[in-house]
Amino acid sequence: MNDLIDTLRRLVGPAHVLTDGDLTAWEQDWRKRSRGKALAVVRPASTAEVAAVVKACAAAGTSIVPQGGNTGLAVGSIPDDSGTQIVLSLARMSAVRAIDEANLTLTVEAGCVLQTLQETAEKAGFLFPLSLAAEGSCTIGGNLGTNAGGTQVLRYGNTRELCLGLEVVTPQGEVWDGLSGLRKDNTGYDLRDLFIGSEGTLGVITAATLKLYPQPAATLTAWAAVPSLAQAVALLGLAQRQLGAGLTGFEVMGQFALSLVGKHFSQLRVPFLGQADAPYCVLLENSDSESEQHARERFEALLESAFEAGHVIDAVVAENLTQAHQLWHVRESIPLAQAEEGLNIKHDISIPVSRIPAFCAETDALLAREIPGVRLVNFGHLGDGNLHYNVQAPASGDARTFLREQEDRVNTLVYDQVRAFNGSISAEHGIGSLKLDKLPAYKSPVALQLMRAIKQALDPQNLMNPGRVVQAP
Ligand code: FAD
Repeated sequence: MNDLIDTLRRLVGPAHVLTDGDLTAWEQDWRKRSRGKALAVVRPASTAEVAAVVKACAAAGTSIVPQGGNTGLAVGSIPDDSGTQIVLSLARMSAVRAIDEANLTLTVEAGCVLQTLQETAEKAGFLFPLSLAAEGSCTIGGNLGTNAGGTQVLRYGNTRELCLGLEVVTPQGEVWDGLSGLRKDNTGYDLRDLFIGSEGTLGVITAATLKLYPQPAATLTAWAAVPSLAQAVALLGLAQRQLGAGLTGFEVMGQFALSLVGKHFSQLRVPFLGQADAPYCVLLENSDSESEQHARERFEALLESAFEAGHVIDAVVAENLTQAHQLWHVRESIPLAQAEEGLNIKHDISIPVSRIPAFCAETDALLAREIPGVRLVNFGHLGDGNLHYNVQAPASGDARTFLREQEDRVNTLVYDQVRAFNGSISAEHGIGSLKLDKLPAYKSPVALQLMRAIKQALDPQNLMNPGRVVQAP
């Protein structure tokens, strides 16, 4: 092992091979639920250095955990506790390599923080629409690794749909340059799509060519109180019909989720908080290519029809950008407020939108019956059929004990319901090691067999993020 560490120091410089001191930032997951032990944290600065590091690790039979911002929620970016794995941090590879205005593309290195990427696009007069609450720390490599979703999927798709090409270091240390930027390329299997969402198990993404969009002339945000989830779904349909591609965000939030924001971030003003006839609130975003006035007129017409149809009880439209940011800030504070409240069981699920009201009615009742006192933190990207259907321990009692005793049971109850409603047990966070043992019960055996075959073909030594996504054959 010392030989490998010496080699790595030679390859990337001694200052970028960390073995001592406090490595918590790389070894502990964002939720602070899991902690591993790395042989070393290695921080290469170029694709050539990544390739050299991967080659050296392959020769030594040492496994690698690629890591971006370490904000992932599926425990896929930290080492196991064996002390034998290398954490390969892409943080030093953050350069924007090129902007091609005519092609509407931007090529960037994997360690670029998402917010920096958004700002770079904006400075050049374009929009890069991927947006999520962790955008100040997560990296584009991690977004691609997990095929992240976020709040704009409804209009622009998830990270996969925003990517035109990749540069990848294979488990053998070869460099695949697939940074074509082509919108059409049917020359065989789609390798790009294979690596996207593979959570570091098939190779290390070192750079990507991404789609840019024109900036909208105006973006308006509204917050509506709705009488039920069924009415929220009806409002979504109405908004899609009336706003068309202008509808760029549609988030739903249960009152309990909002009450946690009110409790833990009392400086934030939460509209319609605790309103008894509105069990849910909805945040809508309308992006308009004409003007603010045009956007406002269309938004007001939508809300008027929604009031008449009984989809909405009350609503506010942000007067300016500051107010819009405040509304989004409330929505994005829910995961943080939930973490403040204590340990909880997260379910990042998707269900066909039309079936979400029935899923929630049945599953809420099932959990209340089977595990009295549990509190449901239900919010998410309703426009994509993606709910964060999270379960908080009962207010009385110790959350850690609750999780130890009930987590498996709660997961089975919820995931069996997800299957019954033709849903997915991971909409956007991935499998990591968190859901590794669950996947075989909820994914088709044929699909799993194909996934194992792909893993075996690309990484026969099982050195790339082993024990994540799929068990080696
Ligand atoms: P990491 O956590 O470092 O890694 C995640 C996975 O990708 C790991 O398996 C890792 O091995 C792999 N990986 C990382 N970099 C590379 C690379 N260069 N090549 C190959 N594999 C790599 N996710 C959503 O989808 N939607 C949301 O709305 C959302 N909201 C969030 C809100 C909060 C407050 C937090 C903390 C997280 C949220 N997430 C969300 C989850 C998380 O931010 C995303 O999964 C994000 O894409 C992870 O990026 P990262 O750089 O932190 O990756």
